[in-house]
Amino acid sequence: MNREQREVLADLAEGNIRFSCSMADYTTFKVGGRIEALLGIEKIENLLRVVQFLRREGISWFVLGRGSNLLVMDGDVPGVAIRLKGAFDAIQEEDSRERKCMAGAGVSLGQLLEFCRRKGYGGTAFLAGIPGTVGGAAIMNAGAFGRDMSSLISGLQMVTPMGDVVERDRDTLSFSYRKLEMPEGGVVTRVWMKLEKSTTPEVAGKIREYLRRRKKTQPLEYPSAGSIFKNPPGDHAGRLLEEAGLKGERRGGAMISAKHANWIVNRGGASAQDILDLISLARRRVREKTGIELELEIKVVGQ
Ligand SMILES: Cc1cc2nc3c(=O)[nH]c(=O)nc-3n(C[C@H](O)[C@H](O)[C@H](O)COP(=O)(O)OP(=O)(O)OC[C@H]3O[C@@H](n4cnc5c(N)ncnc54)[C@H](O)[C@@H]3O)c2cc1C
Repeated sequence: MNREQREVLADLAEGNIRFSCSMADYTTFKVGGRIEALLGIEKIENLLRVVQFLRREGISWFVLGRGSNLLVMDGDVPGVAIRLKGAFDAIQEEDSRERKCMAGAGVSLGQLLEFCRRKGYGGTAFLAGIPGTVGGAAIMNAGAFGRDMSSLISGLQMVTPMGDVVERDRDTLSFSYRKLEMPEGGVVTRVWMKLEKSTTPEVAGKIREYLRRRKKTQPLEYPSAGSIFKNPPGDHAGRLLEEAGLKGERRGGAMISAKHANWIVNRGGASAQDILDLISLARRRVREKTGIELELEIKVVGQ
C-alpha cells in the first residue's frame, strides 16, 4: 500500500488502524507474520466505504474474528485485516416471547453464551469453549456435540463484495458441514437467532458440562486452532490420524497433540511452517494408510 492509501484507510477507520502488526498477537495459534494494516471498523457506513475502497484499489483483505480458525503463514502478509467492533459488538433482544435476538458479527461466542445464561435461553451451550466471534462461527458453521450454528440462525445481514448491505432469511442460506455458502469477499455483519426455552440454571449446567467434556479430551493448555481437518464422511479425522501413529509427532515448536490427534499445538516457539509441515505429514500418512484425503478445516492465510 502506498502512503495515500494508508491515509484514506486511517480516515475510514477513524484512526483505529495499526500498521505492520504481528498476526501472532491476533491468532489463537500464536504464529504468523506481519500484516500491512489491521483496521478496527465500528460502523456499517465505514465498512461499506472500506470494502469499496479496497476493491477499487486492488488491495487484498480479509475479516479477522478471534483468529481461532486461522493459520497465518510466517512471511509478511500484504493487505489488510478488518476487525468488526463498536456497533458490530452488541447483542439485542428483539422479541422476548419468541426468544429472538440479534448479535453483531464481532460479538464473542463467550458474550453470546453469557447473554443466554442470564436470560435463560437455550440452544447455544454447545458453543461453550469455542473461542470465536458470532460472524466467524456463522461463516464456519461452527459446531460441537452434534449441533452447529445453522440450527440457531434465522437470518443474517451481510455486506456484499460490491459494498451493498443485504439481509438474507434462513431459507436462502446454504449451510453444510463447517461451511456457509457466501460470495467470495462477503462480510457477515449481523446474525439473527431464534433461541430455545430454558432457564438460567439449566443453561449454566449445560455450559459447565460441555466445558468439562472439552477439558477431558482437548489439549486446551496450549495455543491451537482447534481441529485441523474436517471429519471425512462417516469417519473421524482424529481416529484416522491416531491410527496412522501421528500423536506426538513434532516439527520445531509444533506437535500433533498426544491428547487429540486432530489438534496441532504450539508447544512454544512454533512457526507456521512447523505447523504446515505437520499438516503435510499427517495428510501423507493418512493417504498412504487409508487412501483418504483429509480436508483442512482451518483457513490458511499468507505465504
Ligand atoms: C480451543 C479451540 C476450540 C475450538 N473448538 C471448535 C469446535 O468445537 N467447533 C468448531 O466448529 N470450531 C472450533 N474451533 C475453531 C474456531 O473457534 C471456530 O471456527 C470459530 O467459529 C472461528 O471464529 P473466529 O471469529 O475466530 O474466526 P477467524 O478464525 O478469525 O476466521 C475464520 C474464517 O472466517 C472468516 N470470517 C470471520 N469473521 C467473518 C465475518 N464477519 N464475515 C466474513 N468472514 C468472516 C475469516 O476471514 C476466516 O476465513 C476451535 C478453536 C479453538 C482454538
